[in-house]
Amino acid sequence: MHIQSVNPVNGKIIKSYKEDTEAKLSRKIEQTHKAWLGWRESSFSERTALMNRLAAQLTLAREHLAGLMAVEMGKPLKDGLAEIDKCASVCTYYAKNASNFLSDQLVKTEATKSYVSFQPLGVVLAVMPWNFPFWQVFRFLAPALMAGNCGLLKHASNVPGCAVAIEQLIKDAGFPAHVFQTLMIGSTAVAAVIEHPMVKAVTLTGSTEAGKKVAAQAGRMLKKTVLELGGSDPYLVLEDADLELAASTCASSRLINNGQSCIAAKRFIVDKKIEREFTGLFIEKIKQRKTGDPFETGTDLGPMARADLRDELHQQVLKNIEMGAKCILGGRIPTIKGKHAYYEPTVLTGIKKGMPAYSEELFGPVASILTARNTAHAVSLANDTSFGLGAAVFTRNEQLGEDIAQTQLQAGSCFVNSLVKSDPRLPFGGINQSGYGRELGMFGIHEFVNIKTVYIQ
Ligand code: NAP
Repeated sequence: MHIQSVNPVNGKIIKSYKEDTEAKLSRKIEQTHKAWLGWRESSFSERTALMNRLAAQLTLAREHLAGLMAVEMGKPLKDGLAEIDKCASVCTYYAKNASNFLSDQLVKTEATKSYVSFQPLGVVLAVMPWNFPFWQVFRFLAPALMAGNCGLLKHASNVPGCAVAIEQLIKDAGFPAHVFQTLMIGSTAVAAVIEHPMVKAVTLTGSTEAGKKVAAQAGRMLKKTVLELGGSDPYLVLEDADLELAASTCASSRLINNGQSCIAAKRFIVDKKIEREFTGLFIEKIKQRKTGDPFETGTDLGPMARADLRDELHQQVLKNIEMGAKCILGGRIPTIKGKHAYYEPTVLTGIKKGMPAYSEELFGPVASILTARNTAHAVSLANDTSFGLGAAVFTRNEQLGEDIAQTQLQAGSCFVNSLVKSDPRLPFGGINQSGYGRELGMFGIHEFVNIKTVYIQ
C-alpha cells in the first residue's frame, strides 16, 4: 500500500510513499518509547538549545518547506513562508517559557513541603490535518518536546512530503534519535497505535467525525486526548460597526488558506440595517483576491487541497441554493483544463435554519450571510450551532463588544473588531463539537503532563 502526494493544481502524482508495515510501526513505537526514557531526563537548558536550533532549521529551509506545501496542498508560497515563520516562533516561544510554565509550584499545607510538579507522560500520538501541514504539528510538538514527552506523527494522507520533512528538521536540529517520528500510515491503522501500551496519549486536529472516532478508541484504552476539531465561526457585524474594517477583516478571515481553516469566519451575521452596505463592501474585498498558481507571487488563492473536497463543498453550495439561498458571487467550478481543485470564491445570502450553511462547516472559500433583526438576535443566531471554536464581533461600542465576547458568545476564542487567530502566547481550542483541551500558551503545555502532587511530611 502507498500514500501519495497529488498536486491539486493539475491532479498529477508527485510522489508515492510506502506505508509502514505492522512490524515497522511497532518498531517505531518502541524506538520512540526508548528515546523517551532518555529524553525525560534531559534538562531544560538542553531542550531549549535544541528547540532554538529547530527554529533556526525552519528558517533556513523556509523556501523549500513552503514549496512543499504549495505542491502538496496548493497553499500560495507567501502564505507558506508565513506559516514556517510562525512555526519558528512557537519553537522559540516554548524554548523561552517552558521551564517557567513547568516549574514546581509550592503549596502551603501542614506538610514540611508540598508542591505540584509537572512530569512528562511519555509517547504522544499526534493525528494531524493537511490545512496547515507544519503549523498544526509544530504547535503540538514544541510544547510536547519541551515538557519531556516524545511524539509520533500520523499526518494527513495528502501531505506525506511535509510529514517526512518535519521528521528531518528534527533530526537536523540535533535532537536525540527517535524522539519524534513520522508514521507513514492511513487512518485505519491509527487504532492499533492508540492501543499500543507504550503510547500514553493522543492529540487530534481534524474534523469532528474523526475526533469522535479517535476519542472513542482512546477512551476505551483510558488514554488522555486533546481534540482540536471543526468550526463554523460566526462574525457578528452590528449596526454601529466600522463597515470598512468589518468587510475587509471578514473577507480576509473567510479566505484564510482558501477558506480551509478551522477558525476562518464562516457565518456572517449582519444587522439588517447595514446588511446591504456591508455586503457590497464585502464582495468588493473578496473580488480583490487573485486566484492562481500557488508558486506565482501575486496569487492570493490557490486551488483547494483536493478535488474531492472541492466537489463536496460545491454540493453543499448547490444544496443551499436549492433550499432558497441566493448565490451573489461565484458558486462555480472554474473551467480550467486538467484535474484541478480550484473553486470560485462564493457568497451566499439569505441563509436560514435548515440549510447546510446554517449548521454545517463549509470548508472552503464560501461565505454565508445571515440577517439579524438586532444585536440580541445576532448573538442567538451565532450560538445556534453545535460548534464552538471561535467568534468575532464588530462594533464601535468597545464595552458592548467586550461584553458579547466575554459572556455571550459560546466559543473558545472571541475577538472584538479583529479576526480570530492563533498566537503562541494565548490558549487555543474549542468547546462543544469543536473539541476540548487547549494548545499554546501555558495551558497548552499543561495538557500532556502528569500534574503530580509531592508531599513531604
Ligand atoms: P480529517 O479528515 O478529519 O483528517 C484529519 C486527520 O485525521 C488526518 O490525519 C486523517 O487521516 C485522520 N483521520 C480521519 N479519520 C480518521 C479515523 N477514523 N481514525 C483515525 N484518524 C482519522 O480532517 P481534514 O480534512 O484533514 O481537516 C479538516 C478539518 O479539520 C476541518 O473540520 C477543520 O475545521 C478541522 N481543523 C481543526 C483545527 C482546530 O484547531 N480546531 C485546525 C485545523 C483543522 P487521513 O488523511 O489518512 O484520512
